Amino acid sequence: MESLEYVTHSTEDTMQFAEKLAGFLEPGDVLTLEGDLGAGKTTFTKGLAKGLGVKRTVNSPTFTIIKEYMGRLPFYHMDVYRLEDSDEDLGFEEFFNGEGITVVEWSQFIYDYLPEQRLELTIESMSEASRKISLYAHSPHFEQVCKEMSQ
Ligand code: ADP
Ligand code: MG
Repeated sequence: MESLEYVTHSTEDTMQFAEKLAGFLEPGDVLTLEGDLGAGKTTFTKGLAKGLGVKRTVNSPTFTIIKEYMGRLPFYHMDVYRLEDSDEDLGFEEFFNGEGITVVEWSQFIYDYLPEQRLELTIESMSEASRKISLYAHSPHFEQVCKEMSQ
């Protein structure tokens, strides 16, 4: 299954969806998140972190760009919004090729650095409290994840 669409109706809904998804992730997985400001990228990331067993509070890493956490696996949270107008490489590959799970908010701004094998997610606001989450698998492993998530 190459892609999947899922509609959530609350903040908690989105977190739960992400928490479930976390259960299917493996070392080295990279997830990209696109969507407007307020779409729910950080909310999704918080749910994912919870599902990975991260106990620390996950906040938007706007000033640091990359934040590291520890759960059942290392967890790297990137928000590359501030790199919109630069081609700066902050050593992304080290994270992408590592044993942790990486989530990248505003991934379109570092498109050239993204690994081929990744799970691409887009979050769209449908209404005040509804969001459409679209998943697109860029590897057989993520095709399997999409399949698991659809069941
Ligand atoms: P982003 O990181 O994309 O800028 P945030 O996750 O920081 O977005 O903010 C999303 C906002 O939308 C939060 O205030 C959240 O409570 C609210 N929200 C309302 N409904 C939803 C939903 N279904 N899924 C995710 N967030 C939602
Ligand atoms: Mg955010």
